[in-house]
Amino acid sequence: MRIDLHTHSVASDGTQAPADLVAEAAAVGLDVVALTDHDTTRGWDEAAAAAARHGTALVRGAEISCARWGVSVHLLSYLHDPQAPGLLAETERARSSRESRARRMTDRLGEDFAITWDDVLAQAGDGATIGRPHLADALVAAGAFPDRDAAFAQALHRSSRYHVSHYAPDPADAVRLVRAAGGVPVLAHPFADQRGSTLDEETIEELVEAGLAGVEVDHRDHDDRARARLRAFASVHDLLVTGSSDYHGTGKRNRLGENTTHPDALERIEAAGALPVLLP
Ligand code: AMP
Ligand code: FE
Ligand code: FE
Ligand code: ZN
Repeated sequence: MRIDLHTHSVASDGTQAPADLVAEAAAVGLDVVALTDHDTTRGWDEAAAAAARHGTALVRGAEISCARWGVSVHLLSYLHDPQAPGLLAETERARSSRESRARRMTDRLGEDFAITWDDVLAQAGDGATIGRPHLADALVAAGAFPDRDAAFAQALHRSSRYHVSHYAPDPADAVRLVRAAGGVPVLAHPFADQRGSTLDEETIEELVEAGLAGVEVDHRDHDDRARARLRAFASVHDLLVTGSSDYHGTGKRNRLGENTTHPDALERIEAAGALPVLLP
């Protein structure tokens, strides 16, 4: 069984339609794929139809933007009720704050580079959760940088003078909201420190108290030491452990299925989630 529980489509900052993402998952031999767009479930229906066609099992999920003390935290939610009001209100608030933030960043970038808000919108899917990758794509299209990586390194990183923050709920609140929505909360790439600060173990313990179910361990942004620390932490706190690609299509180097999750962890997720895993 090959299981990849973290991917993005054009519903957020991936580069493929949900159906194309699922088709590729089938083509590379994944048995199970999760669609986990940032702060939205709008890709779910298209992905579900494609999964049935391609004989792939689908886990419906999302990656919830959170922040504590200015540290950006990503929380994966699996198999939650997409209509649950508490979680939906917070993700909608984050999505709308992401849009005003992207407009402000575009204004700042527009002073030095030839991009407008329309150029940014042209890079984003209909109703997509807007993120810095869309700004990167607009900058690349304008010829300012060769690719997303260069745009991030030179203009979009968190300490850049063009950077603006957006609203995001506290991660402990988000864990409780995911649980209240019947979802299974798994902390995404907890020790990925290349792009900014991360939470310390004490704070992650607080998330466990709030109901955290698991941690993403095998992820390309974790070195061996980070993985070993997380595995030990998971074992002490009886958390499930996942491994995933965090695939964004051509937008990042991450390849589908480059890290995978053990079937036992998926079993625990399914047992705790409000929705079923969609079987082909
Ligand atoms: P935002 O959600 O707007 O704060 O932007 C963060 C998103 O940008 C992450 O979810 C990543 O998908 C993406 N990202 C961060 N760094 C890079 C990079 N160097 N190249 C491509 N994508 C990146
Ligand atoms: Fe992303
Ligand atoms: Fe993430
Ligand atoms: Zn992600």
